[in-house]
Parts: sequence; C-alpha cells; structure tokens
Amino acid sequence: MKEPLLSPSPMDHAALLCDLEALCAKFPGLEFDYLGESILGRPIPRIRLGHGPKMFFYIGAHHGMEWITASLLQHFLRDFLEIDNHRGRIFGQDLALWKQRNTLFLIPMLNPDGVEYQIHGIHGENPLYERLMEMNRQSNDFSTWQSNARGVDLNHNYDADFWEYKKQEAELGIQNGPTRFSGEHPESEPEVHALCNCIRYHSPTAILTLHTQGEEIFFKSGHRTLPGTTSVARALSRLTGYRLSVAEGLASYGGLTDWCVQKEICPSFTMECGKGTNPLPAAMEFPIYAKLRRALFLFPTLF
Ligand SMILES: [Zn+2]
Repeated sequence: MKEPLLSPSPMDHAALLCDLEALCAKFPGLEFDYLGESILGRPIPRIRLGHGPKMFFYIGAHHGMEWITASLLQHFLRDFLEIDNHRGRIFGQDLALWKQRNTLFLIPMLNPDGVEYQIHGIHGENPLYERLMEMNRQSNDFSTWQSNARGVDLNHNYDADFWEYKKQEAELGIQNGPTRFSGEHPESEPEVHALCNCIRYHSPTAILTLHTQGEEIFFKSGHRTLPGTTSVARALSRLTGYRLSVAEGLASYGGLTDWCVQKEICPSFTMECGKGTNPLPAAMEFPIYAKLRRALFLFPTLF
C-alpha cells in the first residue's frame, strides 16, 4: 500500500460519495447501498465485503469532528479491494477464503450532517439555521460540532441506561447542541435507528466502531462485559498497540458499545484512533491507518 503523493484534505460527505464512485468504477463487483438517510437527507453509504456466515460491522464518523475515521475505513476498503483483485494474501489470510467465511458491512460515515457542519459550518439555506444558531449560542463557529444536524450526539442515542443519563443531563443543563445531548428517546435519530435496525436484522458476530482520539479500546459498559470479549479485546490491543480502557461518567451511557453489551446483542469494540486534538488533521490518516491495518484485516479471525 503506497502513501499518496498529495496531502489529503478532510473527507466530507461529497468526497466520500466521490471516492465510492471511483472504487465502483475500478471494481465493478463492489456491493454498495445505503443504510438510510441523515436528518438532512444525506444518504449513509453501506458497503458489503464477502458473503460468509460470520458477520461484522465497521462503523466510522459517529461524531462531526471525527471524519478522519471515514477516511480510515475508505483506506481499508481500497486496500482490501486491491489485494483481493490480485488474488493476494495479507497477514496470512487468503482474501477469497476470508470472503467465504465472513460478511463485513462498512459504514464509513454514520453522521454525514455533523461532518458537514464541522468542516463547512452552517449556512442560511439550512432549514434548521435559526435553531442551530441558538444551540450554538449565536456563534458561527461549528468547528467543535460532534452531534447530528439537530444537535443530538449519536453516541448517546442508543438504548443503554438512557433514562438514567437523561436525569444527569438535566442536572448538568445539557441540551441540543454541539455534543453530549442524548435526544428525545432511544433511537430518536434516523441515523441511529437505521443502524440499530440493520444490526437487529443481521445479528452480527461483532462490531468495531472507530472514533478519535486517544489510542484506546473500550469494550465494556461500566464494568459489564459479554463473555469471551476480554480475550478478543486483548488481541485487538496487541494488533494495534492501543490500550484497553473503561468508560466512566457521562461517557458510559447511551453509546453503541453500551447498547450491545447491555442488551447482549454482540461483542462491540470502540476504538479511539490516533492521538492529538480533535479534529485530527487529515495528514494523520495514513500513519493512523498503518497502525490499524493489521487489526482491520484480522478482526474477523478473532471470532
Ligand atoms: Zn467519537
């Protein structure tokens, strides 16, 4: 895998669709559809690799400032397709066999509206403009926006201690805005509801979600964990060099991994990729991908 000559720019939704179109042209067999739509009607791409009985989801960009995770999954997709196209092997894996054993859904950008706000700010034609300016305290600066189009933090919108979090949220005065507001009820947001429906329908073997930053892996909800996941988390830690962590305080409510653990859906791993201050610069995508590459190819073999 070669490092690109030009330094990359932040991946917004249009750039993601362009990249997928280019990949579809180069690899005509690529299976790709949409998980659903965001609040503002942006289609959320879902790519399928393989048709095997073990099923996995890799998910990026829950949060507006974390668009680099969409680039990481696109790097993985291109890498996979190119190696597969040459009937190659990677990390001891024959990808033809890999595809017979596994099905992998890639959802590189769950929150396209939030990414758009973070990269480009908001403009008068946004149907929520007035409300958003109010949520953002009349500031035009949306560079720290993590939530979706209407100020709900998608990784607090899952049905996991949701009403308990709601109480704390009220005490702390957290409202619709850039971060941490959980929404009206679990899965109130179309992005989360579409993903949960897809997970319920397919009953995956395991889920891997990319966030930034900190080089950490979370796999518990509080101190609850699903049987067998600790050894997988350790293996993932060895493959990436990332340390294992336990979420505490407000971070331990309403997240996708919390939902998977509490409802006993499947093992779920939240990886905080890279190190630095969000948003991590696009120039970091290649070194971060280089560190994750092995884990992204080998994750299904851990089950
Ligand atoms: Zn995040």
